[in-house]
Amino acid sequence: MSRLFTEAKRRLKTASKYIDIDPDVLEKLKYPQETLSASLLIRMDDGSRRSFKAWRCRYDDTRGPTKGGIRFYPSVCLDEIMALSFWMTFKCAVANLPFGGGKGGVAVNAQKLSKSELEKLSRTYVKAFSKFIGPDRDIPAPDMYTNSMVMGWMADEYSAIVGQPSPAVITGKPLELGGSQGRKDATGYGGYLVIRHLEKEFELHPKKSSVIIQGFGNAGFHCAKLLHQDGYKIIGICDSKTGLYDKSGLDPIALYDNKIKLGALFNQYTPPSVTQMSNTKLLEEKCDLLIPAALENQITALNAENIKASVICELANGPITFAADEILAKNNITVIPDILANAGGVIVSYFEWVQNKAGYYWEEDEVRTKLKQRIEPEAHKIWNLKLELGIDMRTAAYVLALERINAAVSAHGTKAFFVS
Ligand code: NAD
Repeated sequence: MSRLFTEAKRRLKTASKYIDIDPDVLEKLKYPQETLSASLLIRMDDGSRRSFKAWRCRYDDTRGPTKGGIRFYPSVCLDEIMALSFWMTFKCAVANLPFGGGKGGVAVNAQKLSKSELEKLSRTYVKAFSKFIGPDRDIPAPDMYTNSMVMGWMADEYSAIVGQPSPAVITGKPLELGGSQGRKDATGYGGYLVIRHLEKEFELHPKKSSVIIQGFGNAGFHCAKLLHQDGYKIIGICDSKTGLYDKSGLDPIALYDNKIKLGALFNQYTPPSVTQMSNTKLLEEKCDLLIPAALENQITALNAENIKASVICELANGPITFAADEILAKNNITVIPDILANAGGVIVSYFEWVQNKAGYYWEEDEVRTKLKQRIEPEAHKIWNLKLELGIDMRTAAYVLALERINAAVSAHGTKAFFVS
């Protein structure tokens, strides 16, 4: 068993010390309920055939159908998918959604595929996993290097396989295929809502606080944009290729527009006041709020001591290791954990699923209001649990989730343990 999944489970062990939990529930949560691996063989544009390894994992469905994204990334492996599906189980419980956790992935550099190769790969993924996923069984969504276009192809393929339109099988779809208003920026918006809701507790101020963001994709860009619009000073942004730093403040909207147009964050329109900086160095620059919004394992025992932010908001899944958490806590750095900070995405995915099932669609304002109504009280509960038990926010979030999973297992009775 490799490291990410083992690391992920250490959070569970820590949280279980603070509540009275049935040991059988901990045993049940030790390994995923089921995983499926496949090899996706597609014909490339040049006529050759290539195969890509792919996985889907349903971690636990005690609270409802499993839910979680599909990631297209070269280093994706089963261990990572298991860790991500474990986190999804707890994230859905933190958000109090009627879902368990799942995740999927393909080991591929999606940026190197043509559009038609990407479509073939997406459709082949669904063919391989069509019996594993389903609107009441396991519901995928976008994650790194997958987007609404990919979700649209996947929903379309699934509908063709089952012989009827089945939009509720996947969320994060284009609006034209049953997507929800407000899904595109939901993860960034959710993180923004949590930051603004607990701003006083974090001692952050829109007109005074500085922010550095690692990862400038769906999650990172939208959060940066909203914070910038409220007056937060975004002093650092990086993507996989480069980092930009400007003490006097960056304009994330202009940077994003230029990145889309020109394909690079640093380009001919980058203002002269901006310094290029490596991803690693940017993480260690002084700021009030640091937002990792790219990959796992970015803050580890090797660099945690160098982090100078006061608050870290984990928009990415698993960007801080267990060992780094301890160092950050010792240095009084508050961490808003991923299972709360980036839950906006799965919350609006839940709204999309509800709309698909009802065949009745909501306006964007309604989606945003409902997201706010759902995420803020959970953020508040986690903050209060932290104070009450004298623990960090991550442990408090796991305590809240574990209590809910424990209650669901007990409500199922022996069925939850597959005892006949
Ligand atoms: P995305 O593909 O839209 O963007 C990823 C960004 O990270 C890109 O800007 C990319 O250049 C950057 N990046 C990649 N490698 C990097 C590196 N080594 N250093 C710095 N930047 C790097 O992906 P996303 O959807 O924004 O997902 C980002 C993170 O947020 C992931 O951990 C994902 O699991 C998590 N997340 C996303 C959602 C969602 O709804 N999109 C929901 C919950 C969690």
